[in-house]
Amino acid sequence: MLPGIVMQDEPLSQISLMKHLAAENVVCLTNSTVRAIKDDVVEYTDKDGNLQKIAYDTVISATGLRSDTEAAEQFRGTAAKVFTIGDANKAGKIFQCFHNAWHAVRNI
Ligand SMILES: Cc1cc2nc3c(=O)[nH]c(=O)nc-3n(C[C@H](O)[C@H](O)[C@H](O)COP(=O)(O)OP(=O)(O)OC[C@H]3O[C@@H](n4cnc5c(N)ncnc54)[C@H](O)[C@@H]3O)c2cc1C
Repeated sequence: MLPGIVMQDEPLSQISLMKHLAAENVVCLTNSTVRAIKDDVVEYTDKDGNLQKIAYDTVISATGLRSDTEAAEQFRGTAAKVFTIGDANKAGKIFQCFHNAWHAVRNI
């Protein structure tokens, strides 16, 4: 759906991955939204909103992550200070988890 792929990764990982994809002649469809996965084709709308179809052998769904805040919310009010850290706060990378944890510890 985004205008590019691996947009949030470290530059070195991104460059390396893009090289591998190019070497294998992988076509990346950006600005495209999957609408349906049928028995033999994936249907998607392209950047102009037109419905397109593409045949597939294998579908791997890797469409991103979203926080599940429900479990963490249940702890709210059970202690003077409650911190939500890591992916429960915002789905991201391990670095952000450590960063959140560090700030939580400093605020205890
Ligand atoms: C496929 C994939 C690849 C990734 N690759 C990278 C990468 O290369 N580099 C990077 O930096 N980050 C990567 N990440 C992100 C990274 O894994 C997360 O940001 C990080 O693991 C989040 O840590 P966390 O402790 O917040 O949550 P988690 O690691 O998800 O830990 C939460 C734990 O809580 C447990 N839990 C949940 N509910 C309950 C409950 N009710 N009772 C008891 N336990 C419970 C779960 O079982 C789990 O063990 C990747 C994530 C995925 C999914």
